[in-house]
Amino acid sequence: MAMPSHTPVVPIESARGYRGSDPAPATAATGAAARARAGGDANASASAAGSGMELHLRALTKRYPGVAALDGIDLDIRAGELVALLGPSGSGKTTLLRVIAGLLHADGGQVLFGGRDATALSLRERNVGFVFQHYALFKHMTVAENIAFGLRSRPRRTRPDQETIARRVDELLALIQLPELGGRYPEQLSGGQKQRVALARALAIDPHVLLLDEPFGALDAKVRVELRRWLRRLHDRTGQTTLFVTHDQEEALELADRVVLLKDGRIEQVGTPAELYDAPASAFAFDFIGRASVLHGEVRDGQFRPAVATTVHLPCDAADGAATLYVRPHDAALQAHGDGVPAEVVAVHSAAGATRVEVSVGAGAPTLELSVPGDAAGAPAVGQRGVVSLRRYRVFGAG
Ligand code: ADP
Ligand code: MG
Repeated sequence: MAMPSHTPVVPIESARGYRGSDPAPATAATGAAARARAGGDANASASAAGSGMELHLRALTKRYPGVAALDGIDLDIRAGELVALLGPSGSGKTTLLRVIAGLLHADGGQVLFGGRDATALSLRERNVGFVFQHYALFKHMTVAENIAFGLRSRPRRTRPDQETIARRVDELLALIQLPELGGRYPEQLSGGQKQRVALARALAIDPHVLLLDEPFGALDAKVRVELRRWLRRLHDRTGQTTLFVTHDQEEALELADRVVLLKDGRIEQVGTPAELYDAPASAFAFDFIGRASVLHGEVRDGQFRPAVATTVHLPCDAADGAATLYVRPHDAALQAHGDGVPAEVVAVHSAAGATRVEVSVGAGAPTLELSVPGDAAGAPAVGQRGVVSLRRYRVFGAG
């Protein structure tokens, strides 16, 4: 299986070119003014190329009856970074976004925009852009009116004039690659187009941070993949500090500069997509990110002994006691003889140029998944016996 790595599709040179030739002085001016208002001066020169502002979360907590939705969240996000908040349903992702946006008060802790404590800032001053899965466009407004909404509803003092707003809307329509659709109503758009318009509406105010809560969650698989690649290219051009919530590990790994893995209101691990995939710090991370098979067993004197084959000794750094070994499908192979865990092929699935082989290592034990390059022709057949050898694995203690 290929490791889903993040490769910017737009070369950096062209990203710089876009910034250098940005035909939107009004945008830059609004951004600078907004930053000055928020007191992010230290940041202003660093973010001049894009409109990102750094974001710091300190010891954030939020309790609901019987559950800690946020249980001490500390995180530093760099200006212009695209960070994915990844975690299972109920892990606190939406709560965290709402606290950052100022839609919800934390019980404790701080949110800092640039260097400034945001608890002192009004919702408007926080100047965040949102796209939510079910945060629909205004039905009675055209696409252009939707995009202009955030600017039009500013107090007169900071509201751009009509002409500037119209120009900004045109730029955003071009940016989201829907230049002809300004006059349409939301019901005349596809789901993917609607979410692009929602993104343009969020970007119109030149937000300090862009908060996206499962924005593509309601779209079908193919459109989701297209849109996340599009969003990545867009981000490379705009340099907007972005927090992207998803429960889909593939989406997080492909899209983000860094991934923050949440579990039960706590940060389980933070790292680049490659770090999370290659060096998961816990059993939960190993299991949640990428595919994994497990062998249950015991550690004694730095050797893991699978319960199904106690004569097999696999070196590890886990403490003595009950433990579980985790292995990726491409790090395990079935061989005719040699050292390894005795196994029998129980299923072979071939699709998309790769073959997955499922082997049984004993009655009652979970099956292991091995990946074999190419189609089923070269793969072992159901019923074939051999031993599974492990190239790379991690062992985590049960405690
Ligand atoms: P996620 O977005 O990761 O699915 P949420 O942030 O929505 O998770 O929820 C985190 C936890 O807080 C869950 O256990 C959820 O049930 C609980 N929760 C969220 N909002 C409320 C609320 N308004 N009242 C009570 N419990 C809530
Ligand atoms: Mg949620």
